Amino acid sequence: NIFPGRINSAGIDLSNPLEHDPLAARLAELDDVHWTAEPTFCSDDPDFEAEIAPINKPQDLGKEVGTRRDSLPEEITNAITQASDIQAGWNGLGGEKRALLLEAAADLFEQNSAEFLSLCQREAGKTLVDAVLELREAVDFLRYYAGEARRMFTQPVMLPGPTGEENRLSMAGRGVFATISPWNFPLAIFIGPAAAALAAGNTVVAKPAEQTPLIAALAVKLCHQAGIPEAVFQLLPGAGDVGEMITSDPRLAGVAFTGSTDTARAINRSLAAREGPIATFIAETGGQNAMIVDSSALPEQVTRDVIASAFQSAGQRCSAQRMLYLQEDIFDETLAMIWGAFDALDIGDPTLLSTDVGPVIDPDAKAALERHVARRKKAGRTVWRRKLPKGTGTTGCFVAPTIIEIDSILDLKRENFGPILHVARFKADELEQVIEDINATGFGLTLGLHSRIEATRRLVEAKAKVGNFYVNRNQIGAVVESQPFGGEGLSGTGPKAGGPHYVARFATERVVCIDT
Ligand code: GLU
Repeated sequence: NIFPGRINSAGIDLSNPLEHDPLAARLAELDDVHWTAEPTFCSDDPDFEAEIAPINKPQDLGKEVGTRRDSLPEEITNAITQASDIQAGWNGLGGEKRALLLEAAADLFEQNSAEFLSLCQREAGKTLVDAVLELREAVDFLRYYAGEARRMFTQPVMLPGPTGEENRLSMAGRGVFATISPWNFPLAIFIGPAAAALAAGNTVVAKPAEQTPLIAALAVKLCHQAGIPEAVFQLLPGAGDVGEMITSDPRLAGVAFTGSTDTARAINRSLAAREGPIATFIAETGGQNAMIVDSSALPEQVTRDVIASAFQSAGQRCSAQRMLYLQEDIFDETLAMIWGAFDALDIGDPTLLSTDVGPVIDPDAKAALERHVARRKKAGRTVWRRKLPKGTGTTGCFVAPTIIEIDSILDLKRENFGPILHVARFKADELEQVIEDINATGFGLTLGLHSRIEATRRLVEAKAKVGNFYVNRNQIGAVVESQPFGGEGLSGTGPKAGGPHYVARFATERVVCIDT
């Protein structure tokens, strides 16, 4: 533990009525609040008319949760001007003061738990269990990166001076960072990269996913209440065009992006094409995550971990399991057990505590997943599908959890970001080929292994090119400080969120050498 005394937040024990019942009552009160997201500094120029987009519940598209007021080009320019002007001052505050502000924000996040949980459920369609985990992660990111601000940005490192000179190495913010974040962790991955950039002494313009700007707006508001100046951390809501305008600004020092591999490539091209400093680009993108299960595995444990890895959060995690490789000798019996648990999943309204699988984010996501299933059926593959319960079909973006038998992970051409698991069988002597195929997808985010054979674990660990390798457990839910998270290859540029090297990627290093 590099910060003795810092522990991750306790979260909320939903199985304890003393914690659950008051929360449920508060969530009921918040159920009809109408939220808004708008740029931190809105233009009052009457010549410009901004787009206002409704944000509806994924589980019930007829219900509006709030509205997104999109950022205008002149507001984007102005935001970056203000962020540039104040950056030296923010950097000059030093690590300790920035840490205190981030910690004050973490405290306010905890005090506003119910608001955040309500938004996770209403705006992003998350189950209460997922919402609680998300809020915990957001709070943990703030406190962990606050610790990093103290650790790396308070005192310079004194280096050897062989000829009697003094050598000092210090770290500083790079300038203005843009953060572009996804809808699947609308709070944790909105605040995580922003908090890291702020901890390092950068100012931040943050564009949340177009589907989930409301929870981001609350997060920014609470950071301002905690004392972080408005110009230092600004919200720029909007769709992809707003993101493009932000990343084409030559004044940006860097971009931290989480989302699809295609968008990461587009941002990288845009950063390379503009004038200005050579930008730092930090990307966390998709995965084609597999779990390998050999005949030494415990079937009950495998079942529990496959169900969590593939279907929790409706499969809408970058880390989620898309592929299960089962050794041939245990294929039928293990799949039968998985099928039993799969059949017991509760699908539906994410606000019910009993729900295991809620909706996917929007109609486009649903359509893409349905197309994938239809194509596999047409190709004659065995497809097991749950039936959607009544009431989920017409107004909500629900996708029935699905298991599809295929031959190899290489049959999958793209990431299927939802509750769909693919299974294939392998023979004991094909293990190395399986690892090669997984590597050949080009993605390298998470990999699961269930095996009691030490040599197998060592072989997979040595050969697999992935960021997070999980053995005899599920492969989702990386915990801040304990399992720093991030991938390689098509899965991203590699710095691990929630790890000891992450904040350094947002900083520049300076050396002062004073001769005697
Ligand atoms: N960190 C998350 C996990 O471990 C996934 C993050 C993502 O989906 O981008 O499950």
